[in-house]
Amino acid sequence: MKTLKRIAAGILSAALLLGMTSCAAKQTEASAEADTAAFTTVESGKLIMATNAFFPPYEYYEGEKIVGIDVEIATAVAQKLGLELVIEDVEFDSIIAGVQSGKYDIGCAGMTVTEDRLKSVNFSTPYATGIQSIIVAADSEITDIDMLLAGDYKVGVQSGTTGDIYMSSSVEDGGVGEERIERFAKGNDAVIALTSGKIDAVVIDNEPAKAFVAANAGLKILETPYTVEDYAMAINKDNVALKDAINQALKELTDDGTIAAIVNKYIPAEG
Ligand code: GLN
Repeated sequence: MKTLKRIAAGILSAALLLGMTSCAAKQTEASAEADTAAFTTVESGKLIMATNAFFPPYEYYEGEKIVGIDVEIATAVAQKLGLELVIEDVEFDSIIAGVQSGKYDIGCAGMTVTEDRLKSVNFSTPYATGIQSIIVAADSEITDIDMLLAGDYKVGVQSGTTGDIYMSSSVEDGGVGEERIERFAKGNDAVIALTSGKIDAVVIDNEPAKAFVAANAGLKILETPYTVEDYAMAINKDNVALKDAINQALKELTDDGTIAAIVNKYIPAEG
């Protein structure tokens, strides 16, 4: 638990630092137009967003169409920058590499800012928060994180996510260790394995957890408020001008209430 808290603190301080840096940058910038003049994108006139569209309510299919919080925020950002948003649905754990190699302009996938990822990409200002949740069968004997860690339970995660990173670390480091981890390409595949009893728990972000539990009978979510994470857009490290322009757009969309309205539409405020 200590380690999990430490990781969370690390993520938060990284995010704070990011916020501070972008605030400082913004004070010296004259206007959004001034920033946007300098940036380039992979394809002129387009903002190519890599995501994994199986992460409701941030990105998911409605028929043929990919919708969700990330899609709407990225659409609004693209509009501010005078770009057309193009969405590429790829494996979650290929997003950072694709942004790094210049294949995509942004990774926008309910992606948590972590110190490790910051070594490969830049992140925009955070626009949402997530919490890691544990899903178990409704009649499971597992009641909390300590019980999950201490027992001999098999834990399903989505490959390459923070849930994977936390859970696959050693028991001393607050995880269950590699032997007890089952990795899945999509969060929902892990949930299906849980419903058929192949694994004992799934560790995944809270909002998709709620959506998966609502869509599959016989599951419940354990309250595990041990990691609060910041979601942000991943951007190529060399494209600082694009990061600045995106941050300026995000600031305007936060200030005028657009982002809150988008989040509220998909996650109605509780109580
Ligand atoms: N927030 C988690 C992460 O960044 C999961 C994201 C996802 O599965 N799309 O690792």
